[in-house]
Amino acid sequence: MNYDYLIVGAGLFGAVFAREMKRRGKSVLVIDKRDTIAGNIYTEKRMDINVHKYGAHIFHTSDREVWEYVNEFSEFNNYINSPVAVYKDELYNLPFNMNTFSRMWGIKTPSEAMSIIREQADKEISRMKSEKGTDSFTADNLEEQALSLAGRDIYEKLVKGYTEKQWGRDCKDLPAFIIKRLPMRYTYDNNYFNDRFQGIPIGGYTAMVEKMFDGITVLTGCDYYEFVQLEDGAPRQPFTSVKGDTFRKILFTGMIDEFFGYKLGNLEYRSLKFETQDLPDVDNYQGNAVVNYTEREIPYTRIIEHKHFEYGTGKGTIITREYPATWNHGDEPYYPMNDDRNNALYSRYKELAKELPDVLFGGRLGQYKYYNMDQIVREALDMSRSEG
Ligand SMILES: Cc1cc2nc3c(=O)[nH]c(=O)nc-3n(C[C@H](O)[C@H](O)[C@H](O)COP(=O)(O)OP(=O)(O)OC[C@H]3O[C@@H](n4cnc5c(N)ncnc54)[C@H](O)[C@@H]3O)c2cc1C
Repeated sequence: MNYDYLIVGAGLFGAVFAREMKRRGKSVLVIDKRDTIAGNIYTEKRMDINVHKYGAHIFHTSDREVWEYVNEFSEFNNYINSPVAVYKDELYNLPFNMNTFSRMWGIKTPSEAMSIIREQADKEISRMKSEKGTDSFTADNLEEQALSLAGRDIYEKLVKGYTEKQWGRDCKDLPAFIIKRLPMRYTYDNNYFNDRFQGIPIGGYTAMVEKMFDGITVLTGCDYYEFVQLEDGAPRQPFTSVKGDTFRKILFTGMIDEFFGYKLGNLEYRSLKFETQDLPDVDNYQGNAVVNYTEREIPYTRIIEHKHFEYGTGKGTIITREYPATWNHGDEPYYPMNDDRNNALYSRYKELAKELPDVLFGGRLGQYKYYNMDQIVREALDMSRSEG
């Protein structure tokens, strides 16, 4: 069959683009190497709980068009992300807000909190200036940056261990720019996000993506590199599948460096390991969907209790421990490492991509950028519009 588009990747980017091109009367075929659709937002229903298989996903946006768009495919609940942080035997609300400060210092008012933070931060800045023997202060690493912004209590209890686990390095060995700001909220508001719209699709993300693919053929368990006829690693014009289907254009949402056979070198990622436990005899394990563990000695960064994303009250529960991990070839590439080296390398791959105007690159792997889901929807809508 002759198609207008081959869409590689049945994740959110591929799904929105496929839906939009079909709406415009184009013929599309979607393939994904996984056995499932929805990419990293895949949810799997067990014990009547939608399990976020690739990590907790909360939809939040201030983009009204994006919000209305996703609501076409699923109703959303009114979930508000309000994580809790555990440090030793102490429990704190996140993001840093008056509940956090009150628990930490036994205070009540914003002015008390502001003056403690200012006093602690100033003390650290003076100490670092005198140790460096300089009059002006510039943070040389992440530890110095965080201390100068938030003072010692918040840094030690809520920033240090968590950040070191996330990056697998000591805060003294991490660059200061990773933390530009440490947002402090001087109200009693535990809503993690500042966005206008927020929620979780009722029935799970997979059902939402399934609806986007309504009437569209999706071949799962189908790897692009085995599906398309390639010549010296590149797709041959006219794009043809090994079975003889032809495609006018390709949208590729896999890894851009892999697409080009890594010929300029490897892009780097940070990975994660998930350890999921079904607890049929426990109805409520931690009383919150997301609990962060901020001590370095505890190897995971957070525990997710999936049922609380949907206010589940049924019997049993499912929890997932999330462990940051070094990425090696073959591991799931979760987070692009957007440092100078990798960004420069990506720019060179982007230049190569310009030589293939009929291949579009989209999504977090195709564009080597950490995108939240709402940004993915926005990018995919914009790309489909520019395709006409
Ligand atoms: C741990 C974690 C938590 C997150 N939490 C949030 C959150 O709370 N809120 C939020 O807004 N965003 C969150 N995100 C971001 C969100 O996951 C992404 O925005 C979104 O999943 C990206 O969609 P995508 O289609 O670009 O990529 P993907 O979902 O990765 O889809 C790409 C697809 O392409 C397929 N593919 C790759 N190579 C090939 C090939 N060679 N052949 C065939 N198929 C191929 C893959 O199998 C995959 O299914 C989180 C991300 C992570 C890692």
